[in-house]
Amino acid sequence: MARPEFDIVVIGGGAGGLVVAAGGASLGAKVALVEKHKMGGDCLWYGCVPSKTLSKSAAVAHAMRHADRWAIPPHAPAPRLAPVMERVAGVIRGIEPHDSPERFRSLGVDVTLGDGKFVAPDAFEVNGRRLTAKTFVVATGSRPATPPIPGLAEAGALTNETLFDLREDVPHLLVVGSGPIGSEMAQAFRRLGSEVTVVDVAPRILPREDADMADVVQRRLVAEGVRYHFEASIAKVEGRRGAVRATVKGKDGAERAVEATHVLVAAGRKANVEGLALDVAGVKVDQGRIVVDARLRTTNPRIYVVGDVAGGYQFTHLAEHHAGIVLRQAIFKLFWAKPSTVVPWCTYTDPELARVGPSEDEAKRQGLAHKVYRFAFDEIDRARAEGETEGFAKLVTDPSGKLLGAAIVGPHAGELIAEAVLAVTKGMKAGDLSSAIHAYPTLASINRRAADQRLKEGLTPTSKAWIKRIFGLQGA
Ligand SMILES: Cc1cc2nc3c(=O)[nH]c(=O)nc-3n(C[C@H](O)[C@H](O)[C@H](O)COP(=O)(O)OP(=O)(O)OC[C@H]3O[C@@H](n4cnc5c(N)ncnc54)[C@H](O)[C@@H]3O)c2cc1C
Repeated sequence: MARPEFDIVVIGGGAGGLVVAAGGASLGAKVALVEKHKMGGDCLWYGCVPSKTLSKSAAVAHAMRHADRWAIPPHAPAPRLAPVMERVAGVIRGIEPHDSPERFRSLGVDVTLGDGKFVAPDAFEVNGRRLTAKTFVVATGSRPATPPIPGLAEAGALTNETLFDLREDVPHLLVVGSGPIGSEMAQAFRRLGSEVTVVDVAPRILPREDADMADVVQRRLVAEGVRYHFEASIAKVEGRRGAVRATVKGKDGAERAVEATHVLVAAGRKANVEGLALDVAGVKVDQGRIVVDARLRTTNPRIYVVGDVAGGYQFTHLAEHHAGIVLRQAIFKLFWAKPSTVVPWCTYTDPELARVGPSEDEAKRQGLAHKVYRFAFDEIDRARAEGETEGFAKLVTDPSGKLLGAAIVGPHAGELIAEAVLAVTKGMKAGDLSSAIHAYPTLASINRRAADQRLKEGLTPTSKAWIKRIFGLQGA
């Protein structure tokens, strides 16, 4: 049998695929990468980077309006969307060279831009060229799922793939979906001056999170003027971009009209599995999902998947983690490599909501023996200094104090969760967080203060009486 031309062929040049390609090449593998559209993937062009850049401009406008909270005369800006979106484009342009074909070629990766498909279990063809490899990695990501609402397409509904191309102002945005993307964009557009109405079949925002935590975010969005229709769906949309009319149907069947200028669909994602001729490669796909084992291997043992197309949580950091797992197996043949189950995430609203491990609700539903410890930001001195006292941290431990999970809703929650991620990953106890010195005054001390609640819990009147007796203390 002829030796395959490459050690690794990567299909898809987004977060996961790029890490496989760069990592493989740096370790001495002969790597080819095929990208159908633009290197950098969703995260760079239509996801994390543009959404967080937009949210920052929106946060500045919001802070200006409410500067009196910090004893500064407020100013009501009237932001125009075009320059804000130009800033978004500028940030993307700044990052793009890092993910470009030129850079990857300079790393030794054989990059092809084109739309290819498997032509055999060990061969992928693109632009008339047949690429054979010991290992293939499918890293084709996901795309927005569009609900079958009559009139949606005709109304020029936006998705995350078209939203950041907008240059005209958006007087009234109708958002379909109140998950992380819908919530982040609802707040950003509201702060940039749009009226915003959100419709969701769920009874509240961020249904994956504990209700008490999501409620902190929801209350803030409502206070900022985002209007919600929960337990409701859109029956039809009429009109075109600029003047659209949605018929919103409540769970009681009552219909009401919502007039808006633009519609944004943020109602879930679909894995990109079409067009690759996966069946030719012997890769089983079930209900739009590639069948993978715990090691991210498909039903063809030489083909792995990483990132959103793997069908689990859809995050850039998880795609990158998958890449490392697959590289270990492809290069070092370490068959035991499988992804970590400790996956953090954050919804970047203001306040942010970040989590790792099971939530309190999940611990209950899974029947885990657990205890919960909370601490509020309004008792953290730094939060008071910053004027950001809404929210709290929640630790979920087993009865022995071992950390199972943590969630934080509040300022910079996405940064603060990192300590808990390490603690959960390493199987630490709440006491480990308590005993680590945290710089004062930091928001991060909320992790220690939440963990301290467990120590305090141990201080019952009986244990206090024993301490007093043993050590001869004289207090009350
Ligand atoms: C609005 C929004 C905000 C987000 N914010 C965050 C965030 O804050 N934090 C976070 O962690 N995640 C966030 N995500 C999710 C994150 O963008 C994805 O999880 C991440 O990009 C997945 O990486 P990937 O490599 O699987 O796919 P991608 O990065 O999307 O890369 C897939 C690549 O494959 C290419 N491709 C597709 N089909 C083919 C084919 N047939 N042949 C060749 N190439 C193909 C695509 O063009 C693309 O370049 C966000 C997503 C959205 C939509």
